[in-house]
Amino acid sequence: MSFKYVIEHMEDNLHEWCILEYCHISTFIPTSNLYFTNLSKAAESTLLDIKTLQGANFFTDHIIDLNLKKDKICLLDPSAKDILKPEDGNYFEYFLFGGILGDDPPRDRTCELRKHGFKTRSLGDLQMTTDTAINVTKRVIEDKVAIDQIPYIDFPEIKLSTKESVVMPFRYIALSHPNKSTLQTTTDELKLNLVPLLPEGMIELLKKDGDMAFEF
Ligand code: SAM
Repeated sequence: MSFKYVIEHMEDNLHEWCILEYCHISTFIPTSNLYFTNLSKAAESTLLDIKTLQGANFFTDHIIDLNLKKDKICLLDPSAKDILKPEDGNYFEYFLFGGILGDDPPRDRTCELRKHGFKTRSLGDLQMTTDTAINVTKRVIEDKVAIDQIPYIDFPEIKLSTKESVVMPFRYIALSHPNKSTLQTTTDELKLNLVPLLPEGMIELLKKDGDMAFEF
């Protein structure tokens, strides 16, 4: 079965952060399996022009108006009581995510999707960015990896300059082999040669946005 990943865009604007995350998703999910819903006309038009997103499915409709079979949809919800398991791929075809920029503390905006009564699954207690949540879901459902077997880094501190660093208040997938010239963490993970899997361009955007980054 080819699984579909639905991102219900829930921000008023299409912030640069959203674009970087959405482009990042297309590096590990074929665009034909990506559905972006609830887009404004302007956001749809911007995304349609992005080369790496060619072939993705864009809708101004809300997920609920696409008339998909509700029992085939799984909402990834941090407050769900059941953890996502590889067997969930036997029941669900669509995995639904809030296209929400992470915030600290988390504001539970995923509740806007929960109210429609979708079945829900959690990826654990810690907040992930939307691209990370989709990557973890893909690894569990398609690659059949148990969620606790995926390497993570929690709340990595990323150096932006010799004086400045920023703590990303999220759980990320961990990568080994850091390219220390572009990314340095100051956390213990560095000792293990682990770095967070971030969208391309995110470090540059962090440098530009600085401390305002999580004050949406
Ligand atoms: N603070 C946010 C909120 O208001 O709900 C969390 C948003 S998170 C940045 C974006 C989306 O990723 C969520 O709507 C959810 O679909 C998914 N997600 C992130 N972390 C998750 C987790 N631990 N379990 C399940 N889904 C998660």
